[in-house]
Amino acid sequence: MRTAIYPGSFDPVTLGHLNIIRRAATIFDQVVVCCMVNSAKMGWFSLEERVDMLERVTSRFPNVTVDSSNILIGEYAKRYKGPVLLKGLRAGSDFESEFSMAHINKKINPALDTVFLTSDEKYTFLSSSAVKELARYDADLTHFAPREILDDVREKSKKMR
Ligand code: ADP
Repeated sequence: MRTAIYPGSFDPVTLGHLNIIRRAATIFDQVVVCCMVNSAKMGWFSLEERVDMLERVTSRFPNVTVDSSNILIGEYAKRYKGPVLLKGLRAGSDFESEFSMAHINKKINPALDTVFLTSDEKYTFLSSSAVKELARYDADLTHFAPREILDDVREKSKKMR
């Protein structure tokens, strides 16, 4: 059984993330979306809120589960049998940082390979930060964030003003 672990902040999950999850679910037997506690990123949503949103948007995929972690992903991966780490690649800038992260993770866990799925063309310029920026201006988010979480993003953006 091949497991892919897809880590990220998902603050909040976007249609770009969901596109990667949907495609990975057809390639791997099991996809574990791992919501990370990231001290470097000051987010809008708490870990519980991010996990809850991910659970709602992935509930239609039987082989996708959502988890969270506050330890290094290379260490976290050791609890699965022969997993790969899954990353989505947008523009060249993602490649630079993901390339070094993949090597660091392999040092921490030599059995752990990172596989990349290229972003769908439609979502190449989409990020959680862009969704938050658009929400601040009350923009229509339907082409950027999953419908199940639109109300959560609108509500949170009002609180953040
Ligand atoms: P963001 O960069 O939007 O804050 P995360 O830190 O949650 O996203 O990223 C988690 C993973 O999802 C990373 O591998 C990242 O490259 C990937 N990703 C983010 N946005 C997209 C997108 N629009 N298309 C494809 N992959 C993406």
